[in-house]
Amino acid sequence: MKLGSHVSMSGKKMLMGSVEEALHYDANTFMIYTGAPQNTRRKSIDRLRIEEARDLMVDNGIDPSDVVVHAPYIINLANPDKDKRSFAVDFLTEEIIRADAIGAQDIVLHPGSHVKEGVDTGIAYVSESLDEVFARTEDLSIRIALETMSGKGTELGRSFEELRRIIDHVEASHRLSVCFDTCHAHDAGYDVHDFDALMRHFDDIIGLERLRVFHLNDSKNPRGANKDRHANLGEGYIGFDTIARIVHHSDYEAIPKILETPYVTASDDSKKRVYPPYKEEIEMLKANAYTPGLIERIRRNHAG
Ligand code: FE
Ligand code: FE
Ligand code: ZN
Repeated sequence: MKLGSHVSMSGKKMLMGSVEEALHYDANTFMIYTGAPQNTRRKSIDRLRIEEARDLMVDNGIDPSDVVVHAPYIINLANPDKDKRSFAVDFLTEEIIRADAIGAQDIVLHPGSHVKEGVDTGIAYVSESLDEVFARTEDLSIRIALETMSGKGTELGRSFEELRRIIDHVEASHRLSVCFDTCHAHDAGYDVHDFDALMRHFDDIIGLERLRVFHLNDSKNPRGANKDRHANLGEGYIGFDTIARIVHHSDYEAIPKILETPYVTASDDSKKRVYPPYKEEIEMLKANAYTPGLIERIRRNHAG
C-alpha cells in the first residue's frame, strides 16, 4: 500500500522538510507543491535539497519515484487571454523540470477553466497548451496527471469523457496520466460508493493504465453538488468505508494515495490554530477501522 498526504516544502529545509513531515505521519509517499499553490514564486532547483532528501527517503523505505508533485492551481491552460495562457505554458514547463529533478513520475494538474469560452474551446486551448509544454520538455519522461474535477464553475475535467477528449487531442498523449480525486468525482456526480463499477467505467472511457495517483478526500457535500469542499475521513458524504476500501484494494496497491483532507481548526470560523490530521487519518486507514469522534478529539487536544 502506498499511502501519504500532501506535505509542505518551504523554509530552509525544503524537500528535506517534506520527507521529515511524511515520515512523521508514517507515510510512504507524499505530495508537494514546489512553492505556494496560489502563486508562481519558486526557488531554484539547487536550493530544494533534493539529494539529501532522496537519501532520507531511501533510508526510510520511501521510493523517490512515488513522490507526487502538484502544479499550482492558478495555472489555467485554458485561459481565454492569450498572454496569460502563454504564461501558464511557460510556468508549467519550468514546473515540470523541477518535478523531474525531484524525481517525480507524475505532476498533477487541474486541466483548466474555460471561463466563458465553452467546453469545446477550453479543451482546444488545454490541448494546444499541453502540446507546447510536452514539445519543450521532449527529453523528459515525467507525465502530467490530469485531475478529475468537481465541475465547480467552468472547470474542465468534470467527466471522464472530458479528460478523454483532452487525451485524444494531445500529440504526446503517452505523457498524460490521470489523478482520481474521490471528493471531486463524487461532487461531479459519480457514485464512488460503487467503486468497482466506477473503475470499470473509468477503464472504458479513459483506460486504467492511465490511473497513476489517487487523492483521497471525503466530501462536505452530497453527490453531484459541484462544490469541491474536502472533508476529513468519515466526516462527509463519502464515508470512511469507501475510502478505506480503495486503500486496501489489491488492484490499486502500486498507486500513490494522497490525503488532502482539511487541517483541523479550533472552530469553523477560527483559522488561528490548525493541526494536520494526517498521522491519525493514515493510522485509521491502515487499521481499516473508523474511529468515531477522531477529528473532535484532535480539535480538543491540538487545535483548542
Ligand atoms: Fe488538485
Ligand atoms: Fe485533489
Ligand atoms: Zn479539491
